[in-house]
Amino acid sequence: MFSKILVANRGEIALRIIRACKELGVRTVAVYSQPDASSPHVHLADEAVCIGGAQAKQSYLNIPAIISAAEITDVDAIHPGYGFLSENAHFAEICESCQITFIGPPPPAIRSMGDKMAAREAARKAGVPIVPGTQEAIKDKDEALRVAKKIKYPVIIKAAAGGGGRGMRVCHNEVRLVSALMTAQREAEAAFGNGAVYIEKYIERPKHIEIQILADKHGHAVYLYERDCTIQRRHQKLVEEAPSPSVDWKLRKKMGEAAIKAAKAVNYVNAGTVEFLLDTDGKFYFIEMNTRVQVEHGITELITGIDIVKEQIRIAAGEKLGIRKQDKIPLRGHAIECRINAEDPANDFAPSPGRIDRYNLPGGPGVRVDSHAYAGYTVLPYYDSMIGKLMAYGRNRGEAISVMQRALEEFIVEPIKTTIPIHKEIMKNPVFRRGQMYTDFIPRVMGEWADKSDTENAKAS
Ligand code: ADP
Repeated sequence: MFSKILVANRGEIALRIIRACKELGVRTVAVYSQPDASSPHVHLADEAVCIGGAQAKQSYLNIPAIISAAEITDVDAIHPGYGFLSENAHFAEICESCQITFIGPPPPAIRSMGDKMAAREAARKAGVPIVPGTQEAIKDKDEALRVAKKIKYPVIIKAAAGGGGRGMRVCHNEVRLVSALMTAQREAEAAFGNGAVYIEKYIERPKHIEIQILADKHGHAVYLYERDCTIQRRHQKLVEEAPSPSVDWKLRKKMGEAAIKAAKAVNYVNAGTVEFLLDTDGKFYFIEMNTRVQVEHGITELITGIDIVKEQIRIAAGEKLGIRKQDKIPLRGHAIECRINAEDPANDFAPSPGRIDRYNLPGGPGVRVDSHAYAGYTVLPYYDSMIGKLMAYGRNRGEAISVMQRALEEFIVEPIKTTIPIHKEIMKNPVFRRGQMYTDFIPRVMGEWADKSDTENAKAS
């Protein structure tokens, strides 16, 4: 096992990783930007190093500063968390060349899955179903029109380097396709430094189902079942649950095995998530693989009892998986997660940074909160707006919803605005309670909270 790990992240995930390290008896080093000096991860870690200014580029994305911090503090590994440098193959390589273990997959696996087109190709080659569409970047509008005609409208334009729900455009006809193509290429270039876009069939009314996998360096790989992340806004997840109300054991096995196949195709090691869309006929299609720990990993921990972050660390240290036999992976009860963001749902989800004066965390049976906020904490405008993840566990879905509802009532964050009110509405919505939701749930069922462009898509489909 490692003796000291540097956590190259902030917020709740930095806390999560430091906690796992403490339980494993590993010392920790936090890194922080100047305005994060009073953040809890700085205090919880054994040591802390300031790595630069407020902008992520100057600090959490600043590779030389992070590597220097790692060398000064003499760590043997770096955990990147999610976001920031977690899916940066170049960073993983630099760590390795400095004899520091990167807690994540090997750089070639990050690279293959980091480019969505390359990932599609790897999945297809491995025999995993992918969404019909192009295998290569779209060169011009004629090619785009040809492809769309073949796979039939609606189609979706996606950036090869896209992520976080950005860089996607749904097109219902030729006129829209031609106008969206150029903007999509330009935007992809500006946002991701890579203007390559591709076209996929737009699956109407899908469910987003993802499979959590773990693979060690000794050739063992297991899946920890699925998470259902169908409740989204602007293609960004808002509520997640595990297991999915739409997946039975037969489908679970099929999707789990497909996920392992996709991972093996790129010699994957460590924790990862293979994302699929499930259509109304029960067919599933690979969309991408996330080569890191995900925000929503905690609900899988609640239903399986497996600590994914500790497994990540053990795998990176060369240990074998804690449970190596697929049929020995437990699945018990039901867990739901609500993302609590500092955003105003009544005002088009505008960011709502600022000081929190009153902060009351829910508790009691079946409640887990992963949060770095506290009364007196200031939500900074520079980073992700998520201030915490509220998870509820019950013996079944109905009980998990009831636990979540009463936990949301207890959760008080004032005076900033948060997503708590929309979560309360979702939990009491009959369509959600019946488990009959699709990715257009927010615009179609809860229109008043929707984004205008999402509503247009929902209407058109
Ligand atoms: P990102 O990496 O930006 O999160 P993903 O490819 O994971 O992008 O897709 C995010 C969400 O966008 C999906 O969960 C789904 O709601 C929607 N989406 C992506 N591809 C399609 C598609 N082909 N058809 C319908 N919806 C899609």
